[in-house]
Amino acid sequence: MDSTKKITKLTLESLKKKDIAPTPSHYEKEFLAQAKTLDKELYEEILQDNILSDLNYFIENLPEIISPSINFSNDEKINLYLEKINQNPKEFLSKTYIDMLKEITKERVKADREVLKNKTDDIIKLSNLMEKYFDKTILESTNSSEKFDVIKAELKDLNISNASYRELGQLQSKLINTIYSIEHSMQNNRVELSESKEQFDSLNKKIEELQKELAIVKQEKSTDFLTSVLNRRAYEEEVNKIEKKYEAFESNYAIVFYDIDHFKQINDTYGHTCGDTVLKTFGKILKNLTRKEDVIARYGGEEFLALINYEEEKELYKYIKRVKNLITTTNFKYKDIRIHVEFSAGVSFRKNFKNYTDAKKRADDLLYQAKKEGRNKVIFDNGEIL
Ligand code: GH3
Ligand code: MG
Ligand code: MG
Repeated sequence: MDSTKKITKLTLESLKKKDIAPTPSHYEKEFLAQAKTLDKELYEEILQDNILSDLNYFIENLPEIISPSINFSNDEKINLYLEKINQNPKEFLSKTYIDMLKEITKERVKADREVLKNKTDDIIKLSNLMEKYFDKTILESTNSSEKFDVIKAELKDLNISNASYRELGQLQSKLINTIYSIEHSMQNNRVELSESKEQFDSLNKKIEELQKELAIVKQEKSTDFLTSVLNRRAYEEEVNKIEKKYEAFESNYAIVFYDIDHFKQINDTYGHTCGDTVLKTFGKILKNLTRKEDVIARYGGEEFLALINYEEEKELYKYIKRVKNLITTTNFKYKDIRIHVEFSAGVSFRKNFKNYTDAKKRADDLLYQAKKEGRNKVIFDNGEIL
């Protein structure tokens, strides 16, 4: 019996004895153990065969292991090496082939590094250019299209390395398109912006003019055209205000009803225009003697109404005295005519009445009384006469 048959027999007996199922892998293991003691030569041969089959498996997979992933420039060298290994698998572990593999791996790492560096440089180049572009177009917002053209040309001519061309080349053309569309919309905006600015400026001018006109109209609306004191309508508004103040703060005020004495005579003697001039001067004097917080208005014809704020009643007497004094000592001038003017007035203190209407009516009544009692007089609702 040759040794192979003997080893086979012993292998099967041993497996049976150990109660192990003779599967291919159990069999193979036990066979090798038996061969080791019975036939050293066969044992060595089997070992060699095993190593070789493992090596073949490794070599089969070698192309996948060493083929490049980033840089493909070493393709030829790698293919040559793989061809040689396939022809002499046993040489794989020889020093020459191991050195070749080392060399290929070294070159591959170097080439990959180069690619990465180029890609990084390209990205930096692109981003620098974009920064420059946006600085010029958006921040400076200038109109000089030559500057943009230079940058666009630079972007187009940007020397992107072969390694990054596939990815960055696309990015580069996308950026160029983006820049064109940004520029297009900026140009449109610029036109719209300047048009809008012109419209805005002219509107602003119109608004200013209208505001001025409105202020004049407002002034005219509330002012008596002849005497430039408040007219009757504006006076009524002032009554509402002073009444609110009176109700809220009990701030005292008095109503003064003025009427020029024998005014008709002035008209009749010197003419209507002269009468107008007298009214103007009378209004001017009243306005000058009336404080800002007080109210003076032309109520109609040669009648004027005043609303005078006061803390103490004596302030009011002082005010009336001043008016009477100035009016009666002033020579009202019309051309070369000098006219002496007198007036009568009725004064009511608001606090002595339950409402404004009653107080005003009393002032009116007192004025009538002053006329009846000889004119050139001011009668107060408390009986005082000046
Ligand atoms: P009395 O002392 O009683 O107040 O007499 P009077 O003449 O002042 O009063 P009367 O009411 O009799 O006459 C007022 C005149 O004022 C009548 C009117 O023609 C005149 N008059 C009213 N408004 C104006 C005006 O705006 N300009 C001029 N010039 N006269 C006016
Ligand atoms: Mg009158
Ligand atoms: Mg009068």
